[in-house]
Amino acid sequence: MKLPPLLVVALAAKIVALALWLAGAKPSLAVACFVAPDPLVLWALFVPSAQGLVRVFTHFATDRREVWLTIDDGPDPEDTPRLLDLLDRHGARATFFVIGERAARHPEIIREIVRRGHEVAHHTHTHPLGTFWCAGPRRLAAELDRALTALGEAGVKPRWFRPPTGIKHLLIGSALASRDLKCVGWTVRSGDSRAGSAEEVVRRVAPQLRPGAIVLVHEGPRLGAVVRVQAIARVLESCAHRGFACVIPRADQLR
Ligand SMILES: [Zn+2]
Repeated sequence: MKLPPLLVVALAAKIVALALWLAGAKPSLAVACFVAPDPLVLWALFVPSAQGLVRVFTHFATDRREVWLTIDDGPDPEDTPRLLDLLDRHGARATFFVIGERAARHPEIIREIVRRGHEVAHHTHTHPLGTFWCAGPRRLAAELDRALTALGEAGVKPRWFRPPTGIKHLLIGSALASRDLKCVGWTVRSGDSRAGSAEEVVRRVAPQLRPGAIVLVHEGPRLGAVVRVQAIARVLESCAHRGFACVIPRADQLR
């Protein structure tokens, strides 16, 4: 397993601190050395757009008015078919970051997403909100591999991965690299999971739209009833109104 430089530095600082302490240095110096890199590690782990543990793509290069709509937490038997019709009506393409166990329950929806010209990506197997970052290596591997199996059974080999709420794992870099997955964050977080109306979502998203933005929205029962599907409908209208096309970027455009 290859550790990212940030973790190597953090571990080295702890070894140096121990050596200082054993050599009789001032305890305050040893403690300072021990904890010095920790804020950086925590930043890389918990800040969704932070680099350091893995390369996180947060936008894509383009000189056209186009954005990447990414829809998390499906597939959902109620929302996804409605979203596919909505995307068709707008001539929009999107990437669905799906949860593996949901994909295993609804492989026909996964196949339909692809058949309609969209892309399916990896959003862990069980969506362990709040516990992904501290999962043991075996659990981390299971979250990645079980979803890959579920998606593989639906005929999909995903290229992209997004951790739940963007919170990473210390070993995410090598775990993704060995599975040929790349980490995708976002430019615009719609806030739909906490919004009280579709209007509120579009008011937040619209001013942040710019060429190459990655827009994060959600589907499924975690959303409020007045937000589900309708917020994405309003975001698509807003994109159309402002002349933005929803496209799936090529890998070499990601930044
Ligand atoms: Zn999610």
